[in-house]
Order: sequence, then structure tokens, then C-alpha cells
Amino acid sequence: MVLLTSIKSKIFVFAVIATLIPSLGLGLLSFHQNEAQINGNVTRELRALASQASRELELWINKHIHAVRALSTSNAVIEGLSAAAHSLAGKSNKTPQALTHYLRSVQLKLDTILELTVVGAAGQIVASSAAEPSAVILPQSWPESALTEGVVLVPPHWEKQHATATLSVAVPVLSYDNILLGALVAVLDLRTAQSHLKSATKSPLGDVLLLDQNGRELLSSRANVTKLSTLDAAVLRQLLARPGESMVFQGLMQHEVIGLADTPAVLPITVVAERDRADVYAAWVDLRNLFLALVCILVLVVTAVAFRMGRSIVTPLQHLIDAANSIAGGDLDVRLPVTRNDEFGYLTRIFNQMTDKLRHSHAEVVATNKAMKQQNQLLETLSITDGLTGLYNRSKLDAILKDELARFKRNQRPFAVLMMDIDYFKTLNDSHGHIAGDEVIVAVAKILGRSIRSVDFAARYGGDEFIIIIVDTTAEMALKTAERIRSQVNDMRYNSNGQIVLVTVSIGVVQCQQSDDATPTAVFARADSALYEAKHAGRNRAHFAT
Ligand code: GH3
Ligand code: MG
Repeated sequence: MVLLTSIKSKIFVFAVIATLIPSLGLGLLSFHQNEAQINGNVTRELRALASQASRELELWINKHIHAVRALSTSNAVIEGLSAAAHSLAGKSNKTPQALTHYLRSVQLKLDTILELTVVGAAGQIVASSAAEPSAVILPQSWPESALTEGVVLVPPHWEKQHATATLSVAVPVLSYDNILLGALVAVLDLRTAQSHLKSATKSPLGDVLLLDQNGRELLSSRANVTKLSTLDAAVLRQLLARPGESMVFQGLMQHEVIGLADTPAVLPITVVAERDRADVYAAWVDLRNLFLALVCILVLVVTAVAFRMGRSIVTPLQHLIDAANSIAGGDLDVRLPVTRNDEFGYLTRIFNQMTDKLRHSHAEVVATNKAMKQQNQLLETLSITDGLTGLYNRSKLDAILKDELARFKRNQRPFAVLMMDIDYFKTLNDSHGHIAGDEVIVAVAKILGRSIRSVDFAARYGGDEFIIIIVDTTAEMALKTAERIRSQVNDMRYNSNGQIVLVTVSIGVVQCQQSDDATPTAVFARADSALYEAKHAGRNRAHFAT
């Protein structure tokens, strides 16, 4: 996971998870509970609404049955029907014209009644307020069941002729001596029951629908039913399968509703109580959105805090890393400012102390190294110089001579070797002492040092003997140098306890040659014999070996 490689992103992810999981978890739990509670409440309310509507509808029907009953006992009806029965039996030829007029005038006065029809005992229509009365079929058990109460003859249904839902009720018409003459049938306009479906003040929220057995909408508490709408058959089946249990479905107004069904015992209709689902959950949805917005804000705040926290850890850490890198790169002059009082401040202080110590140790090491180098240099100088005179010693002389021979082999540029010995030095030692002898050796060495070029070499060969190597020279120039040295020594006046001592030297001069001088020993041997020649010739002179 690339995301989790840095401390900052780890803090970040942890903070977001630690915020989201509990808040979303608790939120979901509480919303689930709320939803269940809302569902329970809505179901209870809808149940009350539906059963109230069923009850009101029954009351409304009974009220109208009673009203029609009252009409059935009117003289006009009883006499009209008796007359019709007699005319049928051929006893009278009175037409039911008066009855028709009566029925019409009554029907016109009552909004609820669309048709009033009087039928005979056999079910034949005697008179009606309608020009074309609806067909009347009395049930088989009619006389027994209807004698006292009256019945719903045609259950609520959609009547195309009247463009409304109707139902028909029938009540018996009895003669004055209680003989069944026929029936008074009223076609009731169901629209007038609308205001009874639901009380504007007492009923719970929601709408009530009356549906026929096919799901066709007959009446609605919401508005007058004018067009044909039918509830989906599958939905109706489900509602009827669990009466009193709410479910969510696509309502007749083409949006989602929560509803349940109730079936009144006396009528083959379905009462549906429903509420707009969006309305029911509006407050819940508002609360949920508010909660989600709060969670978002919380996550933002936590993210910002985590970001700052991450930065407050990573920034000082990065300074420490940079400083450590500088130290690793050799820069010990690093010093971090201590700006905080927490663990990082403590770490920075320790880091600075560590750097100080490191710097101190490093300075000590550098000083020790320098001293050691000086010591080494001194040792090296001592190893190649003569203790008394400061000139090169014998071993260094051998090395120099080897180098010069090699160079001569390469470039053929000749060099000269002067071997010099102080004359009668034994005698000087004997007469003036060993210390005076040493001082004379030092004085002669000084003259040698002054007489040669910086590229040439002077060494003490041993005792009172010296060697001078003059590089890149001719025999003539070498001899000249030897003569100059000899003369300068000769001119020197050494004062030994008030006594002037004269010192002379003899010098053997050789120029190196390809044929003879393969090794230092060979060169020294030739120089030695040249010196011998100079001594033999009377000393205080230079002799060039040809
Ligand atoms: P010649 O003219 O033949 O050279 O005679 P010489 O007396 O100088 O004889 P030689 O060179 O053989 O003698 C060198 C003497 O130098 C021998 C020794 O006593 C003395 N000598 C050697 N080394 C030292 C030294 O370091 N200091 C002193 N004072 N004398 C030394
Ligand atoms: Mg000597």
C-alpha cells in the first residue's frame, strides 16, 4: 500500500476510519430503529384510518337505508304500488303516473339519490324517477331478509350512465295490513359519502380509497373521482393477502405510497388507507441528510486536525533527517533550533548535544592527526638527515644517487659527484679537542649548503667526509664548484679559545659516465680515487678524475 508508507498518511487514514466507523455505525443503527418506529406508527395510523372509513361507510349506507325505508311507508308509494298490483290483477286500470311523479319529485329533492324505482313483488318495475331505470334483480331470499331491514341490492360499483360510483339499496314496501307489495329501490350516489370517509380534524394523516373487487377506484377522500384508475392487480392481491399490514407500492397518483387494506364485512369492496411515502419519511430523510452533513463536517475537521498533527510530527522529523544527512555528509556545523517542549524538543536537544560531542571529538582527531603528521615528518627528516650537520645522511645519499643514475640512463644528462675530506682532521681533533672538531665539521657543512643550487644535494658521508651531487652539469662547471668550495673553506677562520685555526679540504670530482657508473658503489669508488689523487698531490685542492 503506497498510501500507508508515510507517518502522515497513516495518521490521516486512522483518524478518518476512527471517525467514520463509530459515527456511521451508530447513525445507521439509530436510523434503522427510527425507520422501524416510523413504520409502526404509520401502520397504526393507517389501520385506524381504514377501519374508521369502513365504519363510516356502513353508517352512511344504513342511514340511507333508513331514509329509503321512511319513503317506503309514504302513502304515495303504498297506494301507488297497491294500485299497480290491482291493475295487474285487472281490478283497476289506474296507471302508476302519480307514483312516477312522486318518485321524481322526491329524487330531485335528495342529492344522494340518483334513481328511485318501485318494483312489484315479482320484481317487475312499476314506476321510476329515471326515464331508463337500472335493471333491478331482487335476490332469491329477498322477502325473508328484507322484511325488517332492507338490503344493499347492488354493491358499490362504477356506473357509466351517471359517471359516478353508485350502490343500490332496496327496502320492502308493505301494505297497510302488512302484506309485501314490492320494494323501493334507491340508486345512491357514492360521491356524497366522500366527506364521511375521513374527518378533517380527528382522522390521522393519509388518504382513503374505496376500490371495487377489480381494484377500480370508486371513491377517494383526496378528490372527486372523475377518471378511470385501477390499482395494479398484483398490488391489490398483496394488500388483500395481508389486511391491516402496511406495504410500499406505486399508488394511483403514480408515486410511491405506504398503504394497507381493510375489507368491510358487509360489502364486497376494499378500503385502502395510504400515505405518500416521501411525506412520511420527509422528516426522517431531513434528519438523515443533516446527520450525513454533520459526519462530513466532522470528517473534514478530523482530517484537518490529523493533517496538522501529521505535519507537527513529520516536519521536525524531516529537520532531524536533513540534519543527520548533513552530518553523514561531513558537515558537523549543524545546529537545530529547539522550538518545542515536547518529545521532539527533547530529541532535538539530545541531537544537538550529540552533534556538539561529535564536533569536539572530530576536532580532537584532526589535531591528533596533525601532530602525528608533524611527528612523522620529523621522523622522516631525522631518518634522512645527519644529526650533527643537518645535511642528508649516508642512506639518503644512496637513494639519491640511485635516482640520479636512473634519470641519467633515461635522459643522458650528466651529473657530477664531489667527494670531500677535511685535511689532517685527526690532528685538529687532537690539538683542539673533539668538540672543536665537531664545530669545524658543522662550519664546513654550512659552506657546502651555501655553495650549491637548490636542485643539487649535499650529504655527510661519514666522519670528516662529505658528498655533493651536482645535477645537469658539465665537468668544467663541477670542477669550478669544487674549487669555489675549497677556496671558501680555505678562507674560513675558526676561532678555538682565542686561537685561529686554518682548515682545508681535498675534493675528488667525477662526472658520471655510461660505461663506468652502473651502481652507486662504482661512482663512489671513482670519486674516492679522485679524492685520493687530490690528497696525494698535497691536499687543499680539487682533482677531476678523467
Ligand atoms: P687526511 O688528511 O689524510 O685525511 O688526514 P686525517 O687526519 O684527516 O685522517 P682521516 O681523515 O683518516 O681521519 C679522520 C678522523 O676524524 C678520524 C676520527 O678520529 C675523526 N673523526 C671521525 N668522526 C668524527 C666526529 O664526528 N667528530 C670529530 N671531532 N672527529 C671525528
Ligand atoms: Mg681527513
